Amino acid sequence: MKTPHIIAGPCSFESDNEMFKLAEQLSLLPNVKTFRAGIWKPRTLPGAFEGRGASALPALEAIQNKYNLEAAVEVSLPEHVEACMKYNIKKLWIGARSVCSPDLLEALFKKISERNPASTLLIKNPYACDLQLWIGATLRAQKHGLQVEHCFRGVKTEKPLFRNAPLWSWVREIKKQFPQTKMYLDPSHLYGKREVIMSEIKNFKRLDLFDAYMVETHLFPERALTDATQQLTPQELARFIAALHESYDKDAVDLLTLRKHIDHIDQCILEQFKLRQDISKQVAHSKRRSGHPVYDKKRFDELLSTRTLMAKKVGLSLSFTKEIFTKIHDESVSRQITELLQTRNNQRTGKIENEKDSKIQRI
Ligand code: PEP
Ligand code: MN
Repeated sequence: MKTPHIIAGPCSFESDNEMFKLAEQLSLLPNVKTFRAGIWKPRTLPGAFEGRGASALPALEAIQNKYNLEAAVEVSLPEHVEACMKYNIKKLWIGARSVCSPDLLEALFKKISERNPASTLLIKNPYACDLQLWIGATLRAQKHGLQVEHCFRGVKTEKPLFRNAPLWSWVREIKKQFPQTKMYLDPSHLYGKREVIMSEIKNFKRLDLFDAYMVETHLFPERALTDATQQLTPQELARFIAALHESYDKDAVDLLTLRKHIDHIDQCILEQFKLRQDISKQVAHSKRRSGHPVYDKKRFDELLSTRTLMAKKVGLSLSFTKEIFTKIHDESVSRQITELLQTRNNQRTGKIENEKDSKIQRI
């Protein structure tokens, strides 16, 4: 049975008193060896709680010693590294926003390798949808002689399935390129909601991709200063850990997850069709104004040949692509005709009404 390492703790370090109580409860749970706490919180929008900063470090050091937990902190500036070293913080991580900035990473890695060259650094996947940033950050850290572990927290896509998108292929690629890595899952930022985290355990466990987990935990999640919807209570975390240990059939096809992905993709396809149809209505009016015919053979031929080229590039069947775009185009033409007929009818009734009005006025 795998016994995954668990990093648990609040999204943001709050009052000393609550943090000590939380750490005490977490230290009693199996596999919890590290206490995470955000103390400098890089926020997307200004004005939100940005963490207690260095004032939290003495308490964090005391927690580390009192409960035999190593403390883990996100660093996003070289001076954060300096401050953490002063308080003997054992583990540092690079967050999803910092990992998008190669210059910043260069400065951070330089500082870490000067101050604590033997440390193992945890690098989260980038917020932006570019796997190369994650790979580049790893190579850059290795260039500075640092040992790297990875943490997948989901990717910000336009319409993610959860709070973020579960692009498991990224995890597979990182494991392929860096086979020695210890791969963490951060279900908190990936799923964004307590209930979803709990209901997805079986699904991500079946993928068998992760060696460890980083889970946001709070004594009273609803009143947490940041990420209130996604933090688990220590009791929920205990259930989470127990569920990780339940046996499962690794080879079973995860039909439920796969179908959920397909449902989501189909929804996106339909939404895009609707968008296409709305634009097509505008096209109808533009054609009417310029006297362009609704059906334009040249445009249709060009559409089919560019779409089949695109299909070839991504490895889709050409006959399927031709068939589907002929249908889409037919639908678009018939919608445009309906739209123009409707406009003409409206104009006629408007004209008749106007004529009636002016007759009445004359009488
Ligand atoms: C965090 O773990 O506190 C955090 C901000 O995560 P991320 O960098 O993944 O958004
Ligand atoms: Mn958080």
